[in-house]
Order: sequence, then C-alpha cells, then structure tokens
Amino acid sequence: MNVKGGYLADFVSLLFPELCAACGESLVANEHLICTSCRITLPYTNFHLQPDNIVAQQFWGKIILEGGFALFYFAKGGKVQNLMHRFKYKGQKEIGNLLGEIAGAQLIKNEVFKTVDIIVPVPLHKKRLRQRGYNQSACFAEGLAGQLNAAVAEYNLVRPTATETQTHKSRFDRYENMQEVFSVLNPEELKNKHVLLVDDVITTGSTLEACGAQLLKVEGLKLSIATIAYAE
Ligand SMILES: [Zn+2]
Repeated sequence: MNVKGGYLADFVSLLFPELCAACGESLVANEHLICTSCRITLPYTNFHLQPDNIVAQQFWGKIILEGGFALFYFAKGGKVQNLMHRFKYKGQKEIGNLLGEIAGAQLIKNEVFKTVDIIVPVPLHKKRLRQRGYNQSACFAEGLAGQLNAAVAEYNLVRPTATETQTHKSRFDRYENMQEVFSVLNPEELKNKHVLLVDDVITTGSTLEACGAQLLKVEGLKLSIATIAYAE
C-alpha cells in the first residue's frame, strides 16, 4: 500500500508540483512551502543584530519596548508580498508557522528576545476571523513559540468593538480610538512576564502601539514587538 501510495504521490506531484509560495517555482522533494533559493535570498532585515533598528525606533517616545523586530523588508510586487498574500488570503496558514520558526531561530540568539515568556498576537476583527478562519498573527506566534520556548496567549488581548468610521479622523483621534478598543481580559496571566506582541506587517505601528499601551498597564510586564514584515 505504502509503495503504491508513494508512486501515486510522486505521479501527482509530477502533474501538479507544489510551488514555492514566494517565487512560484516548483519545489523539489525535500523543500517545503518555500524553495531553498528563496529561503537564502528573501530580504531579511537582520534587525535582531541591531537593537536600535527602525521598528524599535518607531515606538521611541510612545511606549517602552525591550526590543523591536521584523523578519523581512516588504516591497510591493516582491516575494514577501507573494508570501503574505498566500498566507492571508489563500488559506496557507502553515506559511505563518514556518515564518515564525525562521524568525524564532534568529531571535533565540538575541539576549533580549530569548527571555520572552508569552507571545500575544494582535487580535483580528471578529468578522475577519470568521471569513479567514484563522488569525494570521496567531500562526506566526505558534511558530515563534516553539523556537523561543514560550507560551502563546491568543485570547487574552481582545478587540471587543469594531473600528470602522476612522477614515475622517486625524492621526491623533485615530490613535485615541484604537486605544479604547483593545483590552486585556486576564492580567494575571501576563503579570511580571516578558510579552512578545506580534503582528503580520508593521506600517505606521499605530495598532501595535495601541495594543502595547494596554499591555503595559499590566503590573511588571515587559514588552517586545515582532512582525513578519516591515513596510515603509
Ligand atoms: Zn522560491
């Protein structure tokens, strides 16, 4: 049976080869999701080697962070955009786990990030969660957690109300609005812990800032931030 199954699998993969989620080329037998060439050449930031990197700097004077990190630079039309598209809109949630593992393997070598106790994904709007079936940031968190030997607290930070109607507000009003909508359900779980707040892409940083401000109200909590991609 196994032999037959193996032949069948080989035959099917000959007709419909699995494609690299970043470049679209066919994967070979020992490759999974992302081809070897992409794994080497994707635009890594190496922010784990630069404590004062651009992600950390975005929060200076706003919220106090132990460390800030993004795995990749995001460019329109680039391989990271392909990856994110498949991950968020094509149901390939295992891409998030893999990218979490890749990021975690870098962060575990960093003095600051290796002390992370709990990983908290930015919560998704309920409606979006129903449509997609998974929170992409939670998939990234799961991959990171394995490498950092940390727990994931997916449902502690919540977004109880929708934040539409923000289009006509100033940046300041928008921030105020965001701050109102996130809340920590169980502060005890996060008390005196080093929490790594994670999201898929960082652009303005306003969502992460709003989440971080709420988390930092928890007694003794230390905060770091990590995302898959940094978009200028
Ligand atoms: Zn590739």
